[in-house]
Amino acid sequence: MQNLDTPVVILGAGPGGATASIFLAKAGIAHIIIDKATFPRDKICGDALSGKVGAILNRIDPKLVHQLDEDNDNFLNCWGVQFVAPNGEALDIPFDKDPEVQDYPPGFISKRVNFDHFLFKQIDENHATKLMGCEVKDVIAHDDKVEIIYKQGGEEKIIFTNLVIGAEGDRSIVAKKLAGHKMDPKYYAAGLRVYYENVTDMHAQNFIELHFIKEVLPGYLWVFPLPDNQANVGIGILSEKVKSHKLNLKKMMLNALENNPNLRERFKNAKMLGDIKGWGLPLGSVKRKLSGDRYMLVGDAGSLIDPFTGEGIGNAMISGRFAAETAVKALTKKDFSASGLEEYDALVYDKLWEELKLSYTMQKLINRPWLFNFIANRAVKNKAIREVMSTMFDDLDMRAKLKSPMFYFKMLFNI
Ligand SMILES: Cc1cc2nc3c(=O)[nH]c(=O)nc-3n(C[C@H](O)[C@H](O)[C@H](O)COP(=O)(O)OP(=O)(O)OC[C@H]3O[C@@H](n4cnc5c(N)ncnc54)[C@H](O)[C@@H]3O)c2cc1C
Repeated sequence: MQNLDTPVVILGAGPGGATASIFLAKAGIAHIIIDKATFPRDKICGDALSGKVGAILNRIDPKLVHQLDEDNDNFLNCWGVQFVAPNGEALDIPFDKDPEVQDYPPGFISKRVNFDHFLFKQIDENHATKLMGCEVKDVIAHDDKVEIIYKQGGEEKIIFTNLVIGAEGDRSIVAKKLAGHKMDPKYYAAGLRVYYENVTDMHAQNFIELHFIKEVLPGYLWVFPLPDNQANVGIGILSEKVKSHKLNLKKMMLNALENNPNLRERFKNAKMLGDIKGWGLPLGSVKRKLSGDRYMLVGDAGSLIDPFTGEGIGNAMISGRFAAETAVKALTKKDFSASGLEEYDALVYDKLWEELKLSYTMQKLINRPWLFNFIANRAVKNKAIREVMSTMFDDLDMRAKLKSPMFYFKMLFNI
């Protein structure tokens, strides 16, 4: 058997790896992209695509986001979010969008089997060699190369590379073996997802619903609309809480759908499609090392999921783009050392850290049901507060206001 030797290898062809490949190809860089799955493949997820996804698709090719907008069989336009406080008070927050500059919807919801395949098809085979159905078994660092051992059809094969981009998601071998990352239940959530059809009273503008039920805090139960009268339903809870309270997530979710006053009537005649499935969410609550000698970590492999919203697709794509840009420079300079690649960490965290940090603060804040109920009650009655909340998802200064005692003071006295 002949071993392959190539300058760049991407492990994982999910949103992070596919985006890295697309941007490498734009720069004319030949590379290999490996995934254990063959596409289309499922990924357990809430299936909500935020404005960040639209923005990066636009950067790849402005036609793409319009293709999502037109493909109503697979992509649903989404115009906002509904928060349901622990006391049952529901608050509608439309997503902010400037019609002058943005001529497509602010968000989409699409089963990952469809979205990931859509993105996968944008990988440019003039520059990318796709090795699908190939499971990476080990990654070994040598002085001058990284050795990647993978299995293809029962046969073990090896690739040597100058630079590996680890985008293999939550259970990344690169993160574990080369970066030495370990799972920490304080910064990690467990999630379940199941599809339903015939859930009634879905929002007319396809708002995604986050139900902050007391027992689930600081996580939430979600109901996200999908095409074809279907819905993605799931629950996400901090792993530390799952462990300390010995929680049974499946029981909690089914119990809420059957008994919660805001949900039970709506699920009375709904039909579950397929099984309830679980997966982990590595949260970006703390900064981690994202690069080192001959490697970079992208998306979930680098633990970049928003600790408040659970959003990770957009961050995976943003980091995929930065990893490609850093790889291009490293190839030009022929420098794959930790100091040559550390610029990647700066690019990712300059873009994402303020938001991740604030989201972590909010995650801790909403752990107090009384505070949550109080904000929701006020916001339902007060237009100014609703407007603040509407912009806070796009405007970080607004999100920062939530940290300020003055915000609550003003709310208390209706100023
Ligand atoms: C329950 C749940 C709900 C979520 N809801 C949302 C949501 O609504 N919106 C949102 O934006 N984010 C959500 N997320 C987060 C989101 O799913 C992830 O952040 C996103 O998938 C990260 O993309 P990625 O490319 O880094 O990894 P992935 O999408 O996990 O892709 C990794 C790829 O690597 C491949 N791979 C893995 N191991 C190997 C191996 N050893 N060899 C070869 N290939 C390998 C896999 O087959 C896969 O294709 C949710 C996550 C969970 C668990």
